[in-house]
Amino acid sequence: MFDQAQLTQLKQQFKGLEKASSDTFFKQKNVIKQVLAGKSVNCLNCQQPLAFYRQGKSVEGGEICCAKGCTSIALDFES
Ligand SMILES: [Zn+2]
Repeated sequence: MFDQAQLTQLKQQFKGLEKASSDTFFKQKNVIKQVLAGKSVNCLNCQQPLAFYRQGKSVEGGEICCAKGCTSIALDFES
């Protein structure tokens, strides 16, 4: 059995491992939400405003990107 201190330590190690990827995922989700809500969000790299570009006319998808293209988040509303 683990005691409480060991358990906490284990959890923190796990968090450390997963932090990098979940951080990015969480940030992207946040950015998507804000841009779609009409708020202005700047690219983390170039500080240019991010914009939403719809793909085609009826396709339920699109892309959020900045003017320089260093941020590009593909969206698929079907999933
Ligand atoms: Zn950029």
